[in-house]
Amino acid sequence: MARALFLRKGRDRAVRQRHPWIFSGAVERIDDASGDDDDVVDVRSSEGAFLGRAYLNERSQIVARVLTFEDEPVDRAFFGRRIDDALAWRARMPGASDSTALRLVNAEGDGLPGLVVDRYGDVLVAQVLTAGMERRKSWLAELLLERVQAQALTARGVYERSDVDIRKKEGLSEHTGVLAGAAPPERVEIEEHGRRFLVDVRQGHKTGFYVDQRENRALVGQLSRDADVLNAFSYTGGFGLYAATAGARSVVQLDASEPALEMAEEHARMNGVPEERVEHACGDAFYVLRLFRDEGRSFDVVVLDPPKLAKGRANVDAACRGYKDLNLLALKLLRKGGLLLTFSCSGSISRDLFQKVVFGAAVDAARDVEVLAHLSAGLDHPVRLAFAEGSYLKGLLLRVS
Ligand code: SAH
Repeated sequence: MARALFLRKGRDRAVRQRHPWIFSGAVERIDDASGDDDDVVDVRSSEGAFLGRAYLNERSQIVARVLTFEDEPVDRAFFGRRIDDALAWRARMPGASDSTALRLVNAEGDGLPGLVVDRYGDVLVAQVLTAGMERRKSWLAELLLERVQAQALTARGVYERSDVDIRKKEGLSEHTGVLAGAAPPERVEIEEHGRRFLVDVRQGHKTGFYVDQRENRALVGQLSRDADVLNAFSYTGGFGLYAATAGARSVVQLDASEPALEMAEEHARMNGVPEERVEHACGDAFYVLRLFRDEGRSFDVVVLDPPKLAKGRANVDAACRGYKDLNLLALKLLRKGGLLLTFSCSGSISRDLFQKVVFGAAVDAARDVEVLAHLSAGLDHPVRLAFAEGSYLKGLLLRVS
């Protein structure tokens, strides 16, 4: 018989609803019948009913992550099917051919907890977030290459960017390097909605680029004709570049990172944006937005895409103050009829809470604000209905009058 994890009485509701995380507090006992070091366990209710199959990590608060709610073997073929299923959606989703950079595997959202894979042209970049995926990563990377190639896509290799803090919670250290196939070039060129970008998959943020904002960048392009645009927290200039190439009158790219802004300048050149149309400003946005306000500067479109301000549940309050401050300043910088695209990528701040914070900012700014759209990550970032934690990126398109 397989190893089994028994849940405490009355603690099986979440798993029955297909939530994939099992916290240590919900576990009654783990029976080690096999004695081998396999990490796959049957998840059972206190009465012994089969609920799913999970991989185990007793060093983590999340002791098990459910891979399947069916009674099926969790073997190579299983992972092959999960990967194929993820790729099938990316092939048929609307907009699939608009970009050579897409998220191919979105962890829990694709039934592969702990694994994120982004494609940049023929380079695949993986983030391995859990011990369960760590022990499988070498053959999973090979499998991934094989399956992507089977889709008639060229893929030269898989590069690992597991340099994320969260691995500590799994008892893992950070790691980067080639996982399978050939090493990636210094910079990978991608094309997104007809715009060219360079991605530094070794040193860039996350896996190199914010693929999650692709559709929102396209939206900014559509909204920026003849506009004066401020792109705060620009990173390598994505939103601002869309604006500049779609007929914006002027664009300010604002970021605290000098290398990110240098890349943004290169992106402007590569895409034929006249130099005088874009200002690259290096500084702390909390300070620079105040400076702009004091100087009486104003804009038609403002994008606010700060880094994750809430690192965990403990600092949600402080993060909300930060979001409010930024949004208040942004609202003050907008002309009548101006548009604000404001985002939060903090997993521990819900869409509801984020909207309340922005509402607070609008009250303090004494402006009438319309909500035109609720924004999120693109279709290549599926989120399971049972796993609300997966929808980390939330945004609002607002109009001020
Ligand atoms: N909108 C970007 C992604 C933004 S990521 C895109 O579409 O590609 C967040 C960015 O905020 C990073 O580039 C980081 O360098 C920058 N940043 C972090 N803290 C900052 C601060 N206090 N002021 C300005 N920029 C900051």
